[in-house]
Amino acid sequence: MMERGLQVIGGSETNIDIIELSDRRAKFILSGISPAFANALRRSAIAEVPILAIDDVNIYENTSVLFDEMLALRLGLIPLKTDLDSYVLRSECSCKEGCPLCQVSLTLSAEGPKVVYSGELKSSDPKVAPADENIPIIELMEGQKVVLEAIAQLGKGEEHAKWQPATCSYKNMPTISISKCNGCGACVEACPKGILKLNDALTMTNELDCSLCHLCEDVCELGAIHVGSDPASFVFNLESHGSLPAEEVILRAADNIKGKIKRLTKCLSKLS
Ligand code: SF4
Ligand code: SF4
Ligand SMILES: [Zn+2]
Repeated sequence: MMERGLQVIGGSETNIDIIELSDRRAKFILSGISPAFANALRRSAIAEVPILAIDDVNIYENTSVLFDEMLALRLGLIPLKTDLDSYVLRSECSCKEGCPLCQVSLTLSAEGPKVVYSGELKSSDPKVAPADENIPIIELMEGQKVVLEAIAQLGKGEEHAKWQPATCSYKNMPTISISKCNGCGACVEACPKGILKLNDALTMTNELDCSLCHLCEDVCELGAIHVGSDPASFVFNLESHGSLPAEEVILRAADNIKGKIKRLTKCLSKLS
């Protein structure tokens, strides 16, 4: 489990505050880190955590209106639940040409009239299945047929977007200060996020939602509101498309950075 806690990265005190954590979504504040580390974590999460995706398709019959290539492309983009403890990257497998350790087969046989959904893909491994069963693949008319075998293998987002496990973004933690406010309310009207409220005094309802657009500053003639950001604190938003739980994507991304640091340290120690 990802936890609130303190740790030391590069000599500074690091803290994680989890705002939201579900199978598909993680929102957390990571503080005490550099912009370079925040970016490394984001890049590692989207490009270096492997997942399964369909990469080869043997089409035995396709009398639909979609070309074989289009059909294969659509299949490749269906997120597949991935068990990273059961599979290895093809490039790291001793077989080099495909075996049950580095690939999984999914078959599809459907006849129109109907819309064929991802849930109709039959997997040879019960642990590997489409993350969502209701993704439309193709619409078949009366008498049209599709019969195929799709081969999925592990890959990384740095090779192709179909192997990207999640979207991940971050922003600096907003800091907002108010002084000498005359209560005119102009900033309340201007804020696109609706997070400024004026009752007896001007208050902010949720700093995390601030997009750092500075519109409130622009309309304040007194210069009473100041929007800034904490350079060492970052609000992360990660959304998994279902291949891996959001938590696993972040933890594996962090492990990946740790592994790289270890390898670099080893190389540097050889030099000295
Ligand atoms: S615009 Fe300036 S003076 Fe007016 S309510 Fe906002 S902070 Fe106060
Ligand atoms: S910076 Fe933009 S989002 Fe943030 S409080 Fe000001 S107007 Fe609202
Ligand atoms: Zn293999």
